[in-house]
Amino acid sequence: MRKGTVQNATSETSDAPIICPLCGSTETVILERVQVAELAQLWLDLFAVNISSMFSGVKQLLFCHCLSSDLRFFVPPIAGSGAFYDRLNKFEWYYLKQKAEYEYAARFINADDVVLDIGCGRGLFAL
Ligand SMILES: [Zn+2]
Repeated sequence: MRKGTVQNATSETSDAPIICPLCGSTETVILERVQVAELAQLWLDLFAVNISSMFSGVKQLLFCHCLSSDLRFFVPPIAGSGAFYDRLNKFEWYYLKQKAEYEYAARFINADDVVLDIGCGRGLFAL
């Protein structure tokens, strides 16, 4: 692993560090480079979902790890379209009633806490 730096759509490296979106640290490393064309083909082959239009010319994603917060994240961040989530919603496996991350998150929440779950899908975490 090497320390993370920002790359543009043509894969040229710049000296700008990759900044963790959670804690702002620049102590990040690139775990993997994901070619968007390969990712799009996998989605098409496995799920019959065309995701190509969501990348706006981005050719490569960097899967990064923040050494300060332990967050794993992609650079650049790509938000899924409404149509993409509508399609995902049709797969039974996408919104599961039980997920390991629900159990993990629940360890940090007390009974009297108020929690805002952003991007909660069907809100199954709260059930
Ligand atoms: Zn971080």
